[in-house]
Amino acid sequence: MNPSLPRQTPELTVPQHTPDACPVKSPSGAAATDTEHPQPTSRKNSAPHLSGFLNTHHRGTDLHVWCTWCCHWHTHGGKDIQAGHLEHRLAHCYAKDSPYRSGGYWIKISATPWRAVRGTLRSATAAQQRALWRGRMSPAVKALRGQPAP
Ligand SMILES: [Zn+2]
Repeated sequence: MNPSLPRQTPELTVPQHTPDACPVKSPSGAAATDTEHPQPTSRKNSAPHLSGFLNTHHRGTDLHVWCTWCCHWHTHGGKDIQAGHLEHRLAHCYAKDSPYRSGGYWIKISATPWRAVRGTLRSATAAQQRALWRGRMSPAVKALRGQPAP
């Protein structure tokens, strides 16, 4: 081997995301969008963006995020957060198939208070949550997952 020649390294190829070829499906059964598809770069940087809503009460402020996969509002600490901020959080997902479990999500803080949106979505019952945790799907849960995210 000639030491003056640069050492060759194999070309790295990064698979490109194409919705038609995407093995990740959204809850509606359609191919996942870019925000739902895990990217090969840093998991945190490529985490999806969701909307978050603040709830201020006598003990402080909570940050609520609707999780399409768990069909539930996940609650995070909201101290020192204001509308317009972008925050990263690790997911509290119990749904076995939630892509948020590996990398969390980014939360864009909405100016709309949580009390204005919390009643607009139907959450999974405790039994449905246990089924999701076990990786089981039912038509009712599929319908819950079809609700548009706020
Ligand atoms: Zn979740």
